[in-house]
Amino acid sequence: MLLEGSCHCQAVTFSVKSHHPYPFNRCYCSICRKTAGGGGYAINLSGDSKTLNVRGEEHISVYSALINREQSTGERHFCKHCASSLWVYDPDWPELVHPFASAIDTPLPTPPKRTHMMLGSRADWVEVNAGFQDKCFDEYPDESLAEWHQRLGLER
Ligand SMILES: [Zn+2]
Ligand SMILES: [Zn+2]
Repeated sequence: MLLEGSCHCQAVTFSVKSHHPYPFNRCYCSICRKTAGGGGYAINLSGDSKTLNVRGEEHISVYSALINREQSTGERHFCKHCASSLWVYDPDWPELVHPFASAIDTPLPTPPKRTHMMLGSRADWVEVNAGFQDKCFDEYPDESLAEWHQRLGLER
């Protein structure tokens, strides 16, 4: 499906094609929490980077976090005016781009179950509302965003 997204001030709008649009994957790491997840986590989707179409590119800044004192390869794109998180791009996986579900304006499908990742980095005040079929991981999950969609037969 085609995902259309924007920042809050509308300086940046974008679209990207996605076969994996279910917002099921909650990341509780400190980077997501601080930069994109005021409620304690952020949710990334997966799109086809070749189809990413951006208007207002000049309004975008990129943040690359330090992880264990090393520069992360993940490039977190955000609007430099309103600070909305837009997407993560990692040149190690150049065919993918990971828009934040919070930046998407297209109605997204409701996930039948969820994955909770990086729970080892969760803040104490953040409650994990995990359903009994949800998967929980202290660090990275055991499947990719694409594999989750394939397992549940939800590829679009
Ligand atoms: Zn903006
Ligand atoms: Zn994270």
